Amino acid sequence: MNLNLDRLVPAYVREFEPYIPSKPDDELKKLYGCDHLYRLNNNENPLGPPPGAQEIIRRFQPPRGALYPSGDSFYLRREIGRVNGIDPDQVIVGNGANEVIAFVVKAFCQQGDNIITTDKTFAVYEWVATFSGIEARLVPIKDESFDDKGMLARVDGNTKVLFLCNPNNPSGTYWTKDRLISFLNALDGRQIVVVDEAYFEFVEEDDYPNGISLIRDYPNLVVFRTFSKMYGIAGLRIGYLAAGLPVADMIRRTCVVYSVNSVAQEAALACLRDDTGHIEQTRALIRESRSFLREELAKLKMPVIAGEGNYLIVKLQGSDTLAYRKLMREGIMIRPMTGFRYPNHIRVTLAQMEAMEAFMAALKKTLET
Ligand SMILES: *Cc1c(COP(=O)(O)O)cnc(C)c1O
Repeated sequence: MNLNLDRLVPAYVREFEPYIPSKPDDELKKLYGCDHLYRLNNNENPLGPPPGAQEIIRRFQPPRGALYPSGDSFYLRREIGRVNGIDPDQVIVGNGANEVIAFVVKAFCQQGDNIITTDKTFAVYEWVATFSGIEARLVPIKDESFDDKGMLARVDGNTKVLFLCNPNNPSGTYWTKDRLISFLNALDGRQIVVVDEAYFEFVEEDDYPNGISLIRDYPNLVVFRTFSKMYGIAGLRIGYLAAGLPVADMIRRTCVVYSVNSVAQEAALACLRDDTGHIEQTRALIRESRSFLREELAKLKMPVIAGEGNYLIVKLQGSDTLAYRKLMREGIMIRPMTGFRYPNHIRVTLAQMEAMEAFMAALKKTLET
């Protein structure tokens, strides 16, 4: 055999450390000896999808499994366009927002180019760049927020894309509309700016910008949204980007058609048409859980960072990975933050009160042992 992977595989792939996904719940329960598991690790919506989307999932006709879906999510893009007041051709739907990150990197970056983001954010921007052989410049987070001046200072002739997560996962901070606009003005269209708004629907602050409404003035702006978080269909894998037409037309060249399945497209459409107050109910639940957790953690003198999104990041006295294992034994799954470069921090998804109470009880117990 003459297989020589060192010759076949680029160094940036060989050297890339693969991400190891969590085991299925049933395996974890066996491993940690717990009979119930609260999933507070992935920022999922505990209320599930809105009723209309649940109906779509229930009613899917099995023979339709044989048919390819719409290759460009036709009806869904039309609805996203209508809801946001943009042309459906400005929208590209992907197999989760994760997939559209790769579309953007492929469309704009070649060897020698770089992207800019921060060190303590959603890691997939950095990963996609790195395993594509593109340099990821990580500007240190400042006051738990993306550092606009620091990012601008790292821009050079090979910088193609700047990734911003607003609100940031995991710190929960956000840039105001003024701050985002100043940043866009400073770049003056020379690079692509991605604003990842995965948690857009959770933010209720008046000065929080709607990126899609800025696309008209900033043709270099690309906005990500997902159906995984507020809309509760993470398991169906669907998200999208919106951009100005010329930019969207370029990104579309790098898309894999048929990557978004039929059920996901139809369920997402039903999510956008929901009129049962699902978003309001979810927000109310999150508000209650957030203030409960904040109060309880304050009593324990455990600092939390910021508060936007459906998660809280908490600083521990000791190791987050140890806390993960201890909490797992109590049936609580949180996200250790070492991998997000926040050692000794955990991120907890805000969920139903029962889960929050179980989390607090388990946390107190682990602090004692
Ligand atoms: C969850 C998340 C996404 C990706 O969501 P998909 O499930 O791939 O649609 C993207 N960005 C951030 C910041 C997230 O937290």
